[in-house]
Amino acid sequence: MKLNAASEKRLKGVKPALVKVVRRAAELTGQDFQIVQGNRTQAEQNRLYAQGRTRPGKVVTWTRNSKHLGGGAVDFAALDAGKISWNAKLYPAIADAFKEAAAELGIGIKWGGDWKTKDWGHVQLTGKSTTKPHVHKVPEPKDTKPFLKRGSKGATVRELQVILNVARIQPLLAIDGDFGPATEKNVKAFQRIFGLVPDGLVGKLSWNALLE
Ligand SMILES: [Zn+2]
Repeated sequence: MKLNAASEKRLKGVKPALVKVVRRAAELTGQDFQIVQGNRTQAEQNRLYAQGRTRPGKVVTWTRNSKHLGGGAVDFAALDAGKISWNAKLYPAIADAFKEAAAELGIGIKWGGDWKTKDWGHVQLTGKSTTKPHVHKVPEPKDTKPFLKRGSKGATVRELQVILNVARIQPLLAIDGDFGPATEKNVKAFQRIFGLVPDGLVGKLSWNALLE
């Protein structure tokens, strides 16, 4: 997806490393998103902190010292048919794109959805660069990969989707662990490229080609 104009505007003042991650995540993701907040001034943070404390409203932040100060964090929202959606189910796929982008770029990030107090639409820099340039961990071909087909679900499907995306089979898939029609289509495309029977069934031969 292409970042919309509103997103680009909110990236102003955000640290360049994080801007890079956001832009790359936008290329990788199958789930559209928009940046809803980037850099915050201390005055803005103080105002947010007061909400639910000395001002009416719901508590929305735990700290006066947010990573948003100085542009070390961004908040994003999922877009569903072009409209902002807070359905938490849509967020892990976006977070996966952020994590993959960050790993590729060697930039450390944390996703708020991994915290105990879930902040689904928040990503921040850790300030550490992940030292090694990212190499996709492709496991050794083994016979132990499960047979996958349309309707399969779970971590191995996610792995399959990541590999198909890394192989740049278009359009890129949402990493949602759900082997649906889009995943099946890309499996068939992959099989055609590798001279396999394009049946959309991921058995031993397909796994061997995928893990090569
Ligand atoms: Zn945030």
